[in-house]
Amino acid sequence: MELIQQIGKMRAKARALQSTGKPLAFVPTMGALHKGHLRLIERAKGLGGSVVVSSFVNPMQFTNEQDLKNYPRDPAKDEKACRDAGVDAYFVPSVEEIYPQGFLTSVNVGYLSTKYEGASRPGHFRGVCTVVLKLLNIVRPTHLVLGLKDAQQFTIIQHMLDDLSMDVELVGVPTVRDADGLALSSRNALLTKDQRAAALCIQRALKRVHFLVKKQGILHSGELLQAIRSATNTEHVTLDYAAIVNRTTLEPLDHVMRGGTYILIAAKVGDVRLIDNTRI
Ligand code: AMP
Repeated sequence: MELIQQIGKMRAKARALQSTGKPLAFVPTMGALHKGHLRLIERAKGLGGSVVVSSFVNPMQFTNEQDLKNYPRDPAKDEKACRDAGVDAYFVPSVEEIYPQGFLTSVNVGYLSTKYEGASRPGHFRGVCTVVLKLLNIVRPTHLVLGLKDAQQFTIIQHMLDDLSMDVELVGVPTVRDADGLALSSRNALLTKDQRAAALCIQRALKRVHFLVKKQGILHSGELLQAIRSATNTEHVTLDYAAIVNRTTLEPLDHVMRGGTYILIAAKVGDVRLIDNTRI
């Protein structure tokens, strides 16, 4: 595995990997790698070509200085994890490498970026889309592998790729969870033991919605959202939003549309903001 910090070197390596004619899969991350990220890498390897992973804590997508400062970082462990996973190139640029002085451009995927996560964290998706587009231009992969845990991000990036006629195939990987159901997230490392136990109510709320839809035939969003509010009304947890939305347009639905719905939840557990979702 080659560890690369400069854009020029990354481009050259990517070009060499592309010259094999096999798929080149790209997995962008913010580091603090866990089994969710490793599943993405596994999926990328499964495409049968080479794999590039990036690790960059992107300041442009943080809307809170403290959150950026507190974001978990473990570069040595991440490098080893990528090496062990058989990654071909691991790109770890500095902030100055990605955003040199005078950087002015940003990418905004319209109204999709202003809802839910975008409403709670204005400018977040502008940061995500800008860095993802820049990384895609550097690596020029055939496949971009993203987790479905960040459901809104996935939909927005799909939209960006389509709108800008990008020649890259988006691959979605289902959410990887701990044995007790908590969605793996780099931010879980910041939870105390009690907060971690309390955070399980998010997954319980999503399971409850599945039960109500599948076993009781309740499709009315108002009723399902009420069930989510009850299930997450617990110590340490403050629900930020719960939404039942169309998977393509992210528009709120009055009724669950089987096969095309996301149930989205964001909650603060102590000071740690967690998101999760399920598809119905
Ligand atoms: P992050 O490092 O949190 O920005 O995430 C990098 C990529 O890993 C994104 O595509 C995420 O959606 C994905 N990811 C994060 N957590 C999980 C998880 N628990 N299961 C699957 N994918 C995940």
